[in-house]
Amino acid sequence: MFRIGFGYDAHRLVKDRPLILGGIEIPYSLGLEGHSDADVLVHAIMDALTGALGKGDIGRHFPDTDPAYKGAESLKLLKEVMDWVKAAGLVVNNLDATIVAQRPRLAPFIPAMRERLITALGADHVNIKATTTEGMGFCGREEGIAAYAVVSLTGEKVDA
Ligand code: MG
Repeated sequence: MFRIGFGYDAHRLVKDRPLILGGIEIPYSLGLEGHSDADVLVHAIMDALTGALGKGDIGRHFPDTDPAYKGAESLKLLKEVMDWVKAAGLVVNNLDATIVAQRPRLAPFIPAMRERLITALGADHVNIKATTTEGMGFCGREEGIAAYAVVSLTGEKVDA
């Protein structure tokens, strides 16, 4: 059994919010707006997982109209999604993700994000990248931050 899932998310950058990416709080003057902690990277990963499982999207499972998810730590929601992966008899083979942000510089924080995600996903093959858009578009204008994620799931661990 082999499945691939793709996820995308974007959140608006605003004042007076923490900037949380991959479960790590990043010191910055702006943060992401959202009902939960607005961890756009983790949301993209959760959508990739629900996609691979054929279970729709995270908006369906964790609606932003539900007060239960107000201020929710996205890594905890990711653990719930991982329970569905396990229930399906699958494991995460690999994750590849890209964060799109003009600022701040994310490279120094990527190793810590990666560690968090290795633990959450139970996968060794976790790759996190960050890029700017050279000032173009909503990410380039620093109106928001976006993230893309691709995951593969297999019936058993594949060593490579
Ligand atoms: Mg989101």
